[in-house]
Amino acid sequence: MFEYAPAPESRDVVDIKPSYGLFINGEFVSGSSSFKTVNPANEEVLAEVAVASSDDVDRAVQAARKAFGVWSAMPGAERAKYLFRIARIIQERARELAVLESLDNGKPIRESRDVDVPLVAAHFFYYAGWADKLAYAGFGDRPLGVAGQVIPWNFPLLMLAWKIAPALACGNTVVLKPAETTPLTALLFAEICQQADLPPGVVNIVTGAGETGAAVVAHPDVNKVAFTGSTEVGRIIARTVAGTSKKLTLELGGKAANIVFEDAAIDQAVEGIVNGIFFNQGHVCCAGSRLLVQESVQDQLLDSLRRRLSTLRLGDPLDKNTDIGAINSADQLAKIRQLSDLGEAEGAARWSPACELPEKGFWFPPTIFTGVAQSHSIAREEIFGPVLSVLTFRTPDEAVEKANNTPYGLSAGVWTEKGSRILWMADRLRAGVVWANTFNKFDPTSPFGGYKESGYGREGGLAGLEAYLDV
Ligand code: NAD
Repeated sequence: MFEYAPAPESRDVVDIKPSYGLFINGEFVSGSSSFKTVNPANEEVLAEVAVASSDDVDRAVQAARKAFGVWSAMPGAERAKYLFRIARIIQERARELAVLESLDNGKPIRESRDVDVPLVAAHFFYYAGWADKLAYAGFGDRPLGVAGQVIPWNFPLLMLAWKIAPALACGNTVVLKPAETTPLTALLFAEICQQADLPPGVVNIVTGAGETGAAVVAHPDVNKVAFTGSTEVGRIIARTVAGTSKKLTLELGGKAANIVFEDAAIDQAVEGIVNGIFFNQGHVCCAGSRLLVQESVQDQLLDSLRRRLSTLRLGDPLDKNTDIGAINSADQLAKIRQLSDLGEAEGAARWSPACELPEKGFWFPPTIFTGVAQSHSIAREEIFGPVLSVLTFRTPDEAVEKANNTPYGLSAGVWTEKGSRILWMADRLRAGVVWANTFNKFDPTSPFGGYKESGYGREGGLAGLEAYLDV
């Protein structure tokens, strides 16, 4: 396993500067201190990046406030032109964006090139199309003002697109804080805003850790807060925003069930399970991290799944043959290890294919736990790594009961040849999205978001516009 023909994408396609400033009012400016961002596949420093202090955040919010006057007064058709231009530049610079995303995040180039970056462009195209049709959609056109947006590291550019594209289409201006381990593509996006001649202050990017995010959220002149990240930090943010007039949307964690019935096309389901939990190393909020398989097909399905896992290639994220890249950070690796060890200690059986991990960098092999009980930590807690917990069920009612037995409610998958059963299940599963005979499918026209502790509000589609307008 894991032998592959090297065909690496060249890191030279992107010009990584030794240091990056903050993007405020259309210009790159220095911050008071800095941090290093590393390539998780080899631990080499990629660049030094400025930390935005609360004074820097204040400057960014003031720039956004000033720009709001111009941007919100601009006819929607004019705003659309800028968004279309940004979308086209993203397409033109797709290779650079994909390589930089893989370097900073650790995800396989095949994913950043074929999934992340095309979806990023698609979101800008989609929301550009709405900018002059808000009244037609029944929304009126009253933007909220300055949007403070804080995003995680698992889909750095895509989360940026989910936040910035609808906000701008509606006439808001933004201050966005990327995650501290993946700031580089947001800064390349800032360059793209310059290239598109976006008026200064419409988009501001402030880099740094949680303190910078907290300063954005708490700033009194921010009218809307949009957060994607952990449920833990989501709770802190909800407390900060409570008692203010700010609007808030939260996209938080998940522990999705991928449910396979005995009548499902098993080979197809195996592909869906692999995509569900090993795509992006399992660093996916809606990852199918709990496999619920009908008891009668458990052995057959697990045999096929193990065989399939033995063909996955783990290694250099820039290699076009790589299926599984690096874990994004040492901290995330430690969390995955700790929860996996706990899985074993609590009595589940652990299995990984034979797999040599590179010496440098942060790596974790694809892993399956069988014999998992609902009370086990690995069945309850979000691992956010390439680790699948397998549980079984006998009846559809039991599948629903087990799938819903989680504080989260972001997504679920159902595999069956019976259309009526898909509808029956979708009605009963408490999840923002239910995929049928597929998994991890995204589209800018579909609203996305969670029930319960997975958050509130929707991003994507028409519902995504509502989050940025006074309707
Ligand atoms: P995280 O909550 O640790 O960090 C997310 C962002 O919040 C980062 O930019 C971080 O710097 C910032 N932050 C940290 N503390 C803050 C504070 N007190 N105030 C303001 N900002 C603060 O999450 P993460 O580890 O970066 O991402 C993983 C989590 O994100 C997982 O739980 C995953 O499920 C979730 N996620 C959810 C979705 C979704 O759409 N529901 C999508 C992607 C990721």
